Amino acid sequence: MRASVISENVREVLLTAEQIKDRIAELARDIERDYEGRKPLLIGVLKGAVMVVSDLARELQIDLEMDWMAVSSYGSGTVSSGVVRILKDLDTDLSGRDVLIVEDIIDSGLTLSWLKQNLESRGAASVQICTLLRKPERLKVDVPVRYIGFDVPNEFVVGYGLDHDERYRNLSDVVVLKPSAFGGSDDEISGPVEPARKVV
Ligand code: 5GP
Ligand code: MG
Ligand code: MG
Repeated sequence: MRASVISENVREVLLTAEQIKDRIAELARDIERDYEGRKPLLIGVLKGAVMVVSDLARELQIDLEMDWMAVSSYGSGTVSSGVVRILKDLDTDLSGRDVLIVEDIIDSGLTLSWLKQNLESRGAASVQICTLLRKPERLKVDVPVRYIGFDVPNEFVVGYGLDHDERYRNLSDVVVLKPSAFGGSDDEISGPVEPARKVV
């Protein structure tokens, strides 16, 4: 990683910018094949998915549209409550549309499960999900995800759109922070972080 004032808070790089770029290109080939002859509506979930949507959309060599939604699933902590509020709604009428929700990460799955049902109830012809990252250990609900980049360990990750308290979104890599970045002690570190795994 390039040296920066925030890199001193990084404990481990889970996915490099290059690994992310390569995987997004692979997902784009799958999506192009599945949506051939249609014009999907990519729905980016703000703010974390901004980088994924921006790179995925430019990689996709098909006709598409983009729209954005902001939802809030967390109270104050880092644990999903399952209570979802729409903070910014779509501008697009979904009737008959092929919707592809694009997310940064699925943790409990509660947010996406709610969102998928919400978009289906608006008359979309199809609603599929693409996520760059998934934490398989944490899934609480069974939500079908068609396109998945990587499985990551049960650690709080930041970078490539993902934040901690609005910081670190601009990192090109996906990383795990040191405990000291959360106000803890770095003496707590016991061993290396498990690697991320491409989902095949
Ligand atoms: P879920 O409803 O699946 O539990 O929560 C999904 C949302 O929680 C993600 O879109 C993301 O905003 C946030 N989130 C879950 N895990 C992480 C993580 O490890 N790092 C960051 N920065 N956000 C996370
Ligand atoms: Mg998100
Ligand atoms: Mg966040």
